[in-house]
Amino acid sequence: MNEVERLRILDQYGILDTPLEEPFERISALARLIFDTPIVLISLVDDRRQWFKTNIGIDIRETPREQAFCNETIRSDDVLVISDAEHDIRTALNPLVTGSPHIRFYAGAPLITPEKARLGSLCVIDRAPRRFDERQKAILQSLAGLVMKEMELRRQTDHDWLTGATSRSAFYGTWERLAARMTPPSIGLISFDIDHFKQINDRFGHMTGDRVLIDVVEVCRGVLRDGDVISRMGGEEFAVLLPGATAKSALAVAERLRQAIESSRRPEGDGTVTASFGVTMLDQSDIGLADPLRRADEALYQSKANGRNRVTCSWAMPAEIGPGVGSVRNGSLSR
Ligand code: GH3
Ligand code: MG
Ligand code: MG
Repeated sequence: MNEVERLRILDQYGILDTPLEEPFERISALARLIFDTPIVLISLVDDRRQWFKTNIGIDIRETPREQAFCNETIRSDDVLVISDAEHDIRTALNPLVTGSPHIRFYAGAPLITPEKARLGSLCVIDRAPRRFDERQKAILQSLAGLVMKEMELRRQTDHDWLTGATSRSAFYGTWERLAARMTPPSIGLISFDIDHFKQINDRFGHMTGDRVLIDVVEVCRGVLRDGDVISRMGGEEFAVLLPGATAKSALAVAERLRQAIESSRRPEGDGTVTASFGVTMLDQSDIGLADPLRRADEALYQSKANGRNRVTCSWAMPAEIGPGVGSVRNGSLSR
């Protein structure tokens, strides 16, 4: 598997830079009890660093990737054992060996996803050399399997199984986190719903309908930037969160999404898929996602009522974007 694909899969777990969590802490604590090492890490390797989901025994959460023992571990499915890092050619000059935390012994089991991506490792570390037998390797591997199961569970609940878009519940959580963190918060919210989707199902079958949902998310991803979040809120309804957006840029993104969906060709060749959009901005008085979602949905409803395949915003339109309040785009429904 190439590195780009591996990083894409790692990203799907949405685990990097998240707080400590109980299931991972428990597994790590168990590893510490079983192997009696001062340090236990769950390490995930991204493009430039290893980041620790748990960090028992040290107080850092990441190191540069060049220093990561785990960088070596993720090259194979086997447990990597370094009995004495000071006398191992691969690690003798590593700053984590020559300096703090003075690693001497390392054993790491790779975290392997169902599609065989090796994302990082569960590792046990000591400041003195050690031996590690086959039985211990098997135990460490089993514990790494448990870590992976936990990660898999969260990937499934945070993502819609069909399209891979963020699930509704995870979308609410992301919104809350962002709204709390940004000062002053400036977040755009787009709500959209595929037009006459029932007809697509009726005409081409449910499987094609499913394919359209997958494609729509794919097309939107091509338009959105890193950091934007697209969620399947239910059926053929989606929401997009735009951190740092202004009213003007949020509206522009919605219009780009509308155009991208309209111009994407369907496998059948006949029939265009379109969607109707509503756009709003986070307001200081908003409590949670319920208020902005209601505003975006009302604007979306306006788009539907005015003929579909268009974008409506929840605020009075600034003059430079277009006259009046409401629809900015009156694209014709071409199905
Ligand atoms: P409108 O333009 O007013 O939104 O019309 P519509 O036909 O898109 O809306 P309606 O709510 O009448 O129909 C939505 C359809 O979406 C009905 C439902 O069967 C279908 N649907 C919901 N979830 C899925 C799914 O996961 N896969 C498929 N293929 N269809 C789905
Ligand atoms: Mg619809
Ligand atoms: Mg709908």
